[in-house]
Amino acid sequence: MSHSLLDDPRLPDFLCSVDGELASEAQAAGCPHCGGVLHSARYARSVRGGGTDAINDYRASFCCAQDGCRRRITPPSVRFAGRKRFPSPVVLLVSAARHGARPAQARALERTYGISRSTLARWQRWWREKVPGTAFWRMARTQFISPVDPTCMATQRVERFNATTTLDNLVAALRSLAPVHDIRGHA
Ligand SMILES: [Zn+2]
Repeated sequence: MSHSLLDDPRLPDFLCSVDGELASEAQAAGCPHCGGVLHSARYARSVRGGGTDAINDYRASFCCAQDGCRRRITPPSVRFAGRKRFPSPVVLLVSAARHGARPAQARALERTYGISRSTLARWQRWWREKVPGTAFWRMARTQFISPVDPTCMATQRVERFNATTTLDNLVAALRSLAPVHDIRGHA
């Protein structure tokens, strides 16, 4: 199931177009610190493709044009999971499969994408240690009836959006997590 979605040739363009919308919204809103005009200051990112090949890509980013501010503003992304080297759909589905009742599927994904045990352990720490400090987490918790462990966040998102069934659902789940992926954390 999730293999076929991750291999769908339409996925990269789909994610790119969502990132384009998120970037346009951020630029139109202007600098969140001073209201200044934002100029493009995109930067190169390298992420793993299928197997171990690295793909060079660009992440949208802006620089405030106002003298005295000049801050960098990086809009949320559905493609890049923070500074992680793996694309966000892989991070989401592998993290969810690890915590769900599908260990065989998790292992298959890990093999396909060449994800090591130490990488998985870093992702675990990231969910456990970084996510609870975010405004996104505090807001998301109010949607849950019972307290949720942050390490179950990926599983919860996948189930809520039925993310392993269609590209639309997968992208909706990624979009809901875009704010959480922007926090600094384990790469
Ligand atoms: Zn500014």
